[in-house]
Amino acid sequence: MAAKGKVYLYNSLTRKKELLKPSKKDRVSFYSCGPTVYWYQHIGNMRAYTVWDVVKRVLAYNGYDVNHVMNYTDVGHLTSDADEGEDKIEKAAKKEGKTAKEIAQFYIDDFEEQSKLLNIIPPNHKPRATQYIRQMIEFIKELERKGYTYKTKDGVYFDTSKIKDYGILIGGITAETIEAGKRVEVGEKKHPTDFALWKFSDKPGLRQQEWESPFGVGWPGWHIECSVMGSALLGKVIDIHSGGQDHRQIHHPNEMAQNEGYFGKDIVKIWLHNGFLTTPEGDKISKSKGGLATIKDLKRAGHEPLAVRYLYLSTHYRKPLIFSKDTLEAAENVYYSIIEKVREIKEKSGEFEVRDGKIKPYMDTFRKAINDDINIPQALAILHGVISDKKLNEAEKYQLIIDFDRVLGLGLDEVEKIIIPESIKKLADEREAARRKKNWKKADELRNKIKREGYIIEDTEEGYRIIK
Ligand code: AMP
Ligand code: ZN
Repeated sequence: MAAKGKVYLYNSLTRKKELLKPSKKDRVSFYSCGPTVYWYQHIGNMRAYTVWDVVKRVLAYNGYDVNHVMNYTDVGHLTSDADEGEDKIEKAAKKEGKTAKEIAQFYIDDFEEQSKLLNIIPPNHKPRATQYIRQMIEFIKELERKGYTYKTKDGVYFDTSKIKDYGILIGGITAETIEAGKRVEVGEKKHPTDFALWKFSDKPGLRQQEWESPFGVGWPGWHIECSVMGSALLGKVIDIHSGGQDHRQIHHPNEMAQNEGYFGKDIVKIWLHNGFLTTPEGDKISKSKGGLATIKDLKRAGHEPLAVRYLYLSTHYRKPLIFSKDTLEAAENVYYSIIEKVREIKEKSGEFEVRDGKIKPYMDTFRKAINDDINIPQALAILHGVISDKKLNEAEKYQLIIDFDRVLGLGLDEVEKIIIPESIKKLADEREAARRKKNWKKADELRNKIKREGYIIEDTEEGYRIIK
């Protein structure tokens, strides 16, 4: 079997780039904290999933077999990341007049459609929290047996003072962790950082989602599901665990604490955190900060989802990335120019032979970039270099482009699907001419003809645009 590539990843825990050494040699276990399915996943969330998709692709490119688990949180995530507020799913169900199950399914479907538009490879396992209630209860019972828990009148809590290095992921217990804990209005908690493993139903029968347990009727806290589903599906070693920056403060320290309580140590080897998609002012894009746009919204507005992917890829995954009309349009321009050039290269590629000596140096530098903590901005620079290198022929260029796209996932192997064909552009021009002459009948006929070909014409102030 071919030697696997040496992949270095920045471990948030040790704050160093570390060589990935999978516990099962060729098979990497990878867990990602997935969507809370009470609302649409917005473009900020989708950056996170795109980052992890690229991590997976880099591992596959290096010959690893990746076993990827990403959960759906369909119960227990309260309106604050700590233990305060209402259950997000219950709240949405009430508001939309649907069952909790319907809510979860609706937003899962929407998320999966968005993921597909972004060329994100689906995880191997997509467990839902509500499918693991029994295992969560068992896990909590074990934590209880080992003395890590205590009861208050509203739930079973994890006693974080029992964990020597609690909060080490952000450098120990800091003002930040304390601040995060303080938000909780549970007077009976022993320490501000303690968190709920199981919450009791105030009045059983009122909630849609509640279960019998030895502790009382209730529902699981948010953090427990990840420790339980991760270990149930991946075993006692998780090579990589990913989440957004926000999870470094509460969710992941709590997962680590649960793992330590149950297994005697944390089972995650590399903790990986992506930077936020932000507004131009530097604020995290979130539901409350107008982060309501989804990939489907952008598509409806005529943007190409893969150009959004290009935007995500253009900044290193750990750094913040600004999303604005300007950054999107800039990414879109570059993306379409790549597509156009790749189309030309592909057209001529049949006329040449590939000389291995010419492509090897490019493949080496590409691999070096991606294996150095997923340096995709550099990988994109190498792609641009290949496209414009006069010393390469079209066959060599095309081979390199297709090879790189295994990691980039920008649809470069099917550019025809992304480009608007000339024939459609011509019909659109004819329709525009008919409109100017106020020949509405002809304009409508042409619009329908274009529609039958799979394209939609939208009239804007600056003129028309064609959407696939
Ligand atoms: P949630 O559905 O709120 O649990 O978030 C799903 C994932 O998206 C988590 O891993 C978050 O850390 C991540 N996330 C949330 N907002 C952003 C953002 N603006 N940029 C990047 N990732 C984000
Ligand atoms: Zn999680």
